[in-house]
Amino acid sequence: MEASGSKGIVLTGMQPTGTLHLGNFLGAANRWNRMLERYTCYFFIPNQHAITVPQVPAALRAATLNCVAQYIACGLDPKKCSIFIQSHIVGHTELAWVLGSLTPLGQLYRMHQFKDKSAKKEHIYSGLLYYPVLMAADILLYNADYVPTGEDQRQHVELARDLAEKFNTTYSETFTVPVPLIEKVGARIMSLKSPENKMSKSDPDGNATIYITDAPEVIRKKIAAAVTDSGDRICADPERPGIGNLLNIYCAATHMTLEEAEEKFATHSGYAPFKRELADALIALLEPVRGHYAAIKDDKEYLQSVVREGAETVQPIARKTLAKVYRKIGFLEQ
Ligand code: ATP
Ligand code: MG
Repeated sequence: MEASGSKGIVLTGMQPTGTLHLGNFLGAANRWNRMLERYTCYFFIPNQHAITVPQVPAALRAATLNCVAQYIACGLDPKKCSIFIQSHIVGHTELAWVLGSLTPLGQLYRMHQFKDKSAKKEHIYSGLLYYPVLMAADILLYNADYVPTGEDQRQHVELARDLAEKFNTTYSETFTVPVPLIEKVGARIMSLKSPENKMSKSDPDGNATIYITDAPEVIRKKIAAAVTDSGDRICADPERPGIGNLLNIYCAATHMTLEEAEEKFATHSGYAPFKRELADALIALLEPVRGHYAAIKDDKEYLQSVVREGAETVQPIARKTLAKVYRKIGFLEQ
């Protein structure tokens, strides 16, 4: 089953592993906003994914509710979508267990995210390896048609597609085969300090990352100090990933094409004026988000009510899918 129904289902989420950043905004939330009217949207907070790397419990709890506030601040209006917390719903881990029994171990070892996140780690836990199976369960549980993500998650959505097809063939037609929605511009925002790595919430170097809550002067400072090179031409060149990343950010923030932006800055010499213009564009882009976040972040009652309502909407859907799956695989009913 490919994209079904008159109003397709969109499902996606961001881990409560820190403050959302420019990559999360340009590659994810700012695009999700445009889907609210057209699709039935489920946005969740994958706290079960977050514990695949060590977390401080109190910080995780706080970050989870902050993430709800940040979703809303980014424009995800809870009246137009369902926002929920993964661990509130019965079904995600249960379905993951079933799907794990169909997943070859080799496929999990080949995942880029597993390789990146386990590199140079003394202790690697099996949850990190199993992460993509849980993600497949997140998606298939709601029979999502579309999964908007950044480029980093493409491989995981491919696994979800493989598992949906495998389950459908092994048992009978059950799951929608999800389609990843990945846009070119903004899909991979890189670190300001090491542009060969993607910008990440969990990067301990705060100067490598622009957070959606950064004040204007902080944004200016971080962009001014962003790594470039000794040249002065503002263009996309794989040999010069620093300036290429800044140009990509500029295009995503201003909705300009790469060609338009290259032409605009063709006569500029030196990076400083371009960096100033980039900082201005980012400040304008993020200012409303920062303001909205400040207004709601401490209203815990409101934020709790949003996720309670979200859970009420999605839990029956999850239970229905799980019951169907259990029936098909031969689990005896109670
Ligand atoms: P972590 O470092 O904890 O994995 P993260 O910054 O990678 O955090 P996620 O919560 O894993 O963020 O991802 C949330 C969404 O943001 C996903 O759709 C992901 O594809 C997208 N995303 C993450 N980083 C980037 C980036 N640098 N550029 C564009 N999109 C991104
Ligand atoms: Mg990530």
